[in-house]
Amino acid sequence: MKIRLRLALWYSGVTSLILLLFLLGTYLGMRHLLFAALDKELDFVIESIEQSYDPETGIFEGLKHNPVNLSQHLKKFYLVVRDTSETPVFYSLLAQQIALDIPLARNGERVSSFVHLAPEKIPSLRLNGKLKHKAYVSFRSVSRQLYYREKRVGWATIALPVADVEDSLEHLFLLLAVGGLIVAALIGVGSFFLTRQALSPVRNIIRKARQVSHSHLDERIEIQNPADELGQLTMVLNDLFERLQKAFGTQKQFLADAAHELKTPLSILRSHWESEIDNPAVPHALKEKIVQDIENITRLSRLINSLLFLSQTEQINSNFEFEILELGGLIQEVAADIRMLTEAKSQQLQVVELVPATIRGDRSRLYQLFFNLIDNAAKYTPEGGKIWISLRLENNRALAEVRDNGPGIPAADLPHIFQRFYRVNKDRARKSGGSGLGLAICRLIAEAHSGIIDVESEVGKGSVFWVSLPLQV
Ligand code: ADP
Repeated sequence: MKIRLRLALWYSGVTSLILLLFLLGTYLGMRHLLFAALDKELDFVIESIEQSYDPETGIFEGLKHNPVNLSQHLKKFYLVVRDTSETPVFYSLLAQQIALDIPLARNGERVSSFVHLAPEKIPSLRLNGKLKHKAYVSFRSVSRQLYYREKRVGWATIALPVADVEDSLEHLFLLLAVGGLIVAALIGVGSFFLTRQALSPVRNIIRKARQVSHSHLDERIEIQNPADELGQLTMVLNDLFERLQKAFGTQKQFLADAAHELKTPLSILRSHWESEIDNPAVPHALKEKIVQDIENITRLSRLINSLLFLSQTEQINSNFEFEILELGGLIQEVAADIRMLTEAKSQQLQVVELVPATIRGDRSRLYQLFFNLIDNAAKYTPEGGKIWISLRLENNRALAEVRDNGPGIPAADLPHIFQRFYRVNKDRARKSGGSGLGLAICRLIAEAHSGIIDVESEVGKGSVFWVSLPLQV
């Protein structure tokens, strides 16, 4: 899973959890407040009854003076007041119609609780449709003993249906749930964009680092903020590229120096042996050996040149001189130069198709690329064999093919033949003077031209090497 997605999930997950806890806290807090307000109202009624106690008559004046009005006033309450012998002395209107099982608080404590009643047991209570469908109707009840100057004078039991509070709580719950879901969704989307934004410098670093490693070692990643972690990472990477560039440079220099040091004595050796061939004093048998040595020296020189070329061309596009050129003409030129070789082996070299194709490229490098391919075809195809060359257009690209009816390449070797020093049949390759660097050079040149090079081959039937290059538009 991508770090961006992981971060976004973590961020929105944790924030949603905090949001959920906050909403739950809000809901529970509101619930507590609403029921506390209800309890306060119940306590207030009990207190006013308690305060209306007349010690001389032994009755609660508040209940006596206008019991009808009082009970009207207390219509919404369930209220039962008892005297000291637990005999009920007052029932509110609701208490006359229903019986709630509220425990009496006997030991001086105030007992508050919820009591429930099936809706069908509340005939006169104006139940709205919603309540009728509930399994039970809940009441909040308070029960406590009544005192006059620390003397117990009776009991009061009071209750109120909590349907209104429950309704409000239900609405609140819905509101919080819907609001919470919307906010959670917004957090999810927001965190996705936020992490994308936060990680965009990382994407930039990756893109740049790829460019550096693939092509120019002298490129550096731009440091946006040297103080933050990404800035420091960029600095470390830049430092690494610096050291890599130095190491490559040293290696290249070493190779160039070594090649140079080897080339001079080799050419001296070669001209020395060549002059010996013409020397009539040198016996014939020795001359044959000298010819062999000259061949080996030539091969060695070629190998050194190839190595030098590879090391110089390591950095794509370095030393390339691009120009607009006609690829067909160039291929024809290569074919004409190789014809001598093929004729010597009685091979047929045929240019079967050649359409005009203008590309942007380095003439001498492309010459080398096609020379290597056609030269390989001539080298590995036996005497009397055939080589076909074609150039056509496909998907806005120039597609050049070098086909032969030579020995072909085994499928197991095909993925490796563009690697350096890879040769299919070491003996055969050595006899043909190959070093295994030719195709590696071809691939390097093709890639420097944003091209693709590949091969299809079948043992016993032949090979097709194709190069596709972008057209100049
Ligand atoms: P070399 O210098 O040995 O020719 P290359 O890199 O040019 O090295 O080729 C790698 C190997 O691919 C060769 O050793 C050869 O076995 C095989 N190869 C290349 N071209 C052909 C071809 N046209 N037909 C058969 N084998 C080929």
